[in-house]
Amino acid sequence: MDFAYTEEQKFFQKVVADMVEKVVEPKAEALDESDDFDHDLFREVGGLGYYGLRYPEDVGGMDVDTQTFAIFIEEMAHGSFGFATAAMMQCLMGTHFLHRFGSEDIIERLFKPAIRGEKISCIAFTEETSGSDITGTRTIAKQDGDEWILNGKKMWITNGPIADFVTVLATTDPALKTKGLNFFLVEKGMEGFTYGQVLHKLGARGTVTGEIIFNDVRLPADHLLGEEVNKGMEYMQEVLEEIRLMTAALALGLARAALEDAREYARVREAFGKVIGKYQLIRSKFGECWTEFEAAKLLVQKVAWMIQNKIPCGNEAAMAKMFATEMCLKAVDEATRIYGGNAFAQEYPVQRYFRDARFLLYGGGTHEVLKNFLGSRYIGRL
Ligand SMILES: Cc1cc2nc3c(=O)[nH]c(=O)nc-3n(C[C@H](O)[C@H](O)[C@H](O)COP(=O)(O)OP(=O)(O)OC[C@H]3O[C@@H](n4cnc5c(N)ncnc54)[C@H](O)[C@@H]3O)c2cc1C
Repeated sequence: MDFAYTEEQKFFQKVVADMVEKVVEPKAEALDESDDFDHDLFREVGGLGYYGLRYPEDVGGMDVDTQTFAIFIEEMAHGSFGFATAAMMQCLMGTHFLHRFGSEDIIERLFKPAIRGEKISCIAFTEETSGSDITGTRTIAKQDGDEWILNGKKMWITNGPIADFVTVLATTDPALKTKGLNFFLVEKGMEGFTYGQVLHKLGARGTVTGEIIFNDVRLPADHLLGEEVNKGMEYMQEVLEEIRLMTAALALGLARAALEDAREYARVREAFGKVIGKYQLIRSKFGECWTEFEAAKLLVQKVAWMIQNKIPCGNEAAMAKMFATEMCLKAVDEATRIYGGNAFAQEYPVQRYFRDARFLLYGGGTHEVLKNFLGSRYIGRL
């Protein structure tokens, strides 16, 4: 086994970390304060080619390995968690189904500009009454000749209200549950496509998150993103491991930012005549968090390797997502304890890390759902 990054991966990490430090991190506080989308930053990072990391070169991508993609996500989350979620959306779920199933026209007109950062994408699963349980999807698609007519409402959609196009999960018949699901492409400006409420978020700010509404939206045949009707669940399974892995990579980046800041603080803050970093109780926090960080990183590396080598890793990807998130939640919590009362001040980023980390509990599956899934896999059929 070789856990070392290759020379290319080391070089890539350095290049991304430098870019994040110069371009992304200086904007992190403003993004958090405004909870608004920074179009210039989004285009700048896109212009460097990063949104195309996981796509082949013939469509304008960089065709990197999964580990390298995870390095990118970790470094972005280290600089600005809110912006990292938007970048991850653009790299992965916002564009995945267009690349997989898009017609030549869709690839040229929407996909290629999106991975250059010229168009904003998003993914819409969640509804007011269904989140974890996608069999509760009520957004409905009816076939009308060669076309589709879409009706329904989606909630909590990251960049939904400002997206140039949306990949929407819809059912042809709610009674079919997972066997009726499909992905459709909806474009800004289509008649009947509007947005409603914009949500004010606790963390992962710097994106525009809200409700999007489909009222008799008429879609041409090539806007069904799939080779066959009602195969959406299968297509979703194909990319689920990668979604969970990248959510774990977000957790690594955020935890690292919190622990590094707390380390700097512990080196200079004095109490009872000593810097607090000299107290064993403070050192033990770093001892535990660092160990758990390394364990989470190992899981991320293993899952990245499995995905890259096409080894099924549904269990390991769920574990990585859950373990890295719990590790991150502990790291941001301990970091705020180390900052004492200053953790409550807006002047220090540690309060932002603390709020941002909560997002990890929902993206990529809640931990109740993941534990249930893993437990039933472990126990087997009863
Ligand atoms: C900042 C942010 C951005 C988001 N962006 C997007 C986006 O871009 N696109 C999108 O589609 N969605 C998005 N979401 C929604 C997100 O995917 C959902 O919040 C998530 O899927 C959980 O669904 P829910 O919130 O409806 O919770 P629910 O599914 O209603 O769960 C509520 C509680 O019940 C528990 N629970 C559910 N099922 C079980 C079970 N079987 N056993 C035990 N406990 C269970 C859950 O763990 C949770 O504790 C976003 C959410 C946030 C917070």
